[in-house]
Amino acid sequence: MRAWLIAITVAAGCGTPWIEEIDGDYRRLTTTLDSNKSGQLKASIRPEVGESAMLVTAEPLDDALDCHVRSLQVASDFPFRADQEVASDKARTNAAFIGHTVSLNWPITEDDGFLRPNTSHKVQIGVVDSSLAYTGGDTRVSVVLKRDIDFSGGVLRVNIVFAGSTGADDEIVVATEEAVALWRNIYDNIGIELDITYFDYTAQGIVGAPGQSDLLVYEDISRSVPFGAVNLVVVEEIDGFDQVFGFAGDIPGPMVSSGRSAVAVSAGLHAGADGRFSAAEVQLLGETIAHETGHFIGLFHPVELTFDSWDALDDTPDCTGDFACRESLGANLMYPTPICDGVSCVPQVGLTPQQGAVANRYTGVL
Ligand SMILES: [Zn+2]
Repeated sequence: MRAWLIAITVAAGCGTPWIEEIDGDYRRLTTTLDSNKSGQLKASIRPEVGESAMLVTAEPLDDALDCHVRSLQVASDFPFRADQEVASDKARTNAAFIGHTVSLNWPITEDDGFLRPNTSHKVQIGVVDSSLAYTGGDTRVSVVLKRDIDFSGGVLRVNIVFAGSTGADDEIVVATEEAVALWRNIYDNIGIELDITYFDYTAQGIVGAPGQSDLLVYEDISRSVPFGAVNLVVVEEIDGFDQVFGFAGDIPGPMVSSGRSAVAVSAGLHAGADGRFSAAEVQLLGETIAHETGHFIGLFHPVELTFDSWDALDDTPDCTGDFACRESLGANLMYPTPICDGVSCVPQVGLTPQQGAVANRYTGVL
């Protein structure tokens, strides 16, 4: 377990009253702000020299309220505006969309440039009620900033959490370890090395998808394991999504504890009816883990299966039909579905340089 080295309260002038914590590689800022009657609140973050990316997470204290990130303002520029993101057919973050917990990693792509040291980065959050009307409400805003100016590679820490009885099932544990070896090879292509620690969480077996249901379970899991890692939760089956191989809490996912702070993967669905993992099923498990964690660290599908929306990257083709997309993107890790012919599946392990650039900007990659 890593420990905080310093904890000081900052109440600097007219800025946001942050509680600041330093943990070697990370600076964490936390505050609770009340939105005004129009549902708006603003938090101001001043990156220090050497800080290269930040992950902002907002969550109303009232479970019945939701929020989204309305804008990011840096000096007089607005490099992120929710209205533009929502109107675009090129996805680059879920931050603009309404959710109980929302996260914005910045910068997202190479085009976003760098954090500007000693310059106020104003994040505007909009808080809404269940009818999507803006409303007042206390909201926790957390910011994690990393010091890592090298966006060409890094280390991603992962907590692999065996939920329920999965950790006592040798078949599942061995398949997971073999899948991790495949995952290491896939991420090696974008310069990301995995630093993995295994945990058991026996309090709960089958749970729903992170961010969708059993939010308290995922919050508890994320509190019970070390900070600074993606939480990969191995479950027997994802409750409510019994035909879904894996589910990421968000794109990007939060580093602070929340009901979204996890990736879930279904061991049972991968093993199939016989409960045993074939080599092909281990391959699929490795690709699912790499794919869902890819979402969590900021990657979208290069194309959705409606073939009318794409990621925001230039080096993943904007194909427009099933056949063309399978041809041009079917071997990409982030293709939306496995491509199988009943005998075998196309290996989906490819990642482009710009996908690597996004992943390396995620604050959890050091
Ligand atoms: Zn996906």
